[in-house]
Amino acid sequence: MTGIVYKSTGSWYSVKTENGKFYNCRIKGKFRIQGIKSTNPIAVGDIVTLDLETIGDETLGVIKDIHERKNYIIRKSVNLSKRTHIIGANIDNAFLLITLNNPTTFTDFIDRFLVTSEAYHVTPILLFNKIDTYTEAELIDVRYLISVYEQIGYKCIEVSAKTGLNIEEVKSLMTGKTSIFSGHSGVGKSTLINTIEPALDLKTSEISEQHKQGQHTTTFAEMFDLSFDARIIDTPGIKGFGIVNMEKYEVGNYFPEFFKLKSECKFNNCLHIDEPKCAIKDALEEDKIAWSRYKSYLQIIEGEEENYRTDIYGD
Ligand code: GDP
Ligand code: ZN
Repeated sequence: MTGIVYKSTGSWYSVKTENGKFYNCRIKGKFRIQGIKSTNPIAVGDIVTLDLETIGDETLGVIKDIHERKNYIIRKSVNLSKRTHIIGANIDNAFLLITLNNPTTFTDFIDRFLVTSEAYHVTPILLFNKIDTYTEAELIDVRYLISVYEQIGYKCIEVSAKTGLNIEEVKSLMTGKTSIFSGHSGVGKSTLINTIEPALDLKTSEISEQHKQGQHTTTFAEMFDLSFDARIIDTPGIKGFGIVNMEKYEVGNYFPEFFKLKSECKFNNCLHIDEPKCAIKDALEEDKIAWSRYKSYLQIIEGEEENYRTDIYGD
């Protein structure tokens, strides 16, 4: 039978089968999936084939096969830095909570999140939280930022986890899907999730408290069913969103507004830095591309020699 992995604690997996029941499962045989060297062969969100075995009065599952993933998000393993850890698989939406101040979310952080989402084929949704706290002047700044991202085609919503502003819209985007929430510590992830589903008690804030105290706990992601046909993957201690290794020339492919224009650059390997007749630089001069986006692009390209990675674990 087929099931979905909701929780993994190393060697045991909690799998929900088609009949809606949860079974503790272990893995049979070695799993080598899509060439990734990860500390966990199977992750939360994976769809698996399993057999059930009843021993005494306990029914346990044996995972025999893993179905092809639509996508997956990885981070560096906490213990074995050379290996990766799969945070979750088959994720539909990645929500990023953004606040202008308290804490400040800088545009380069937003842009790295978007690049990573593009690379992972996960739909990013930007939630501008704490709208209830902004002055008129700050609202103008927030709305300018929203206009930048909406023009590119990203979904942006003004929300307040506290007053419930536009939470119904967030819920409707979550319906029938698996979502993950990211954002700096203090942007309101726990508050928002609590507003969405009051009965759910996630680990997000507890873990960040532990981090502040310098304790190093190995934490596992877990998936939860919500009351309105939505699933959420809780990823304790993760403020950002995965790592991606990419070559310099690939980075522009993950900026949709650059990608649209790139065939108009004179050189087909144009990095849009100082090449002549560059369509991206022209668009920048004509204010058709936002300077903040171009700055983030340069940062990503120049930040690393060959690879670009966003570190996401801890604060
Ligand atoms: P997390 O670290 O991302 O989980 O952030 P929390 O949910 O713990 O929120 C951090 C602080 O911001 C708490 O004091 C919340 O009450 C507050 N907060 C979160 N969302 C809002 C909001 O929409 N409006 C206001 N005024 N405060 C908020
Ligand atoms: Zn160019």
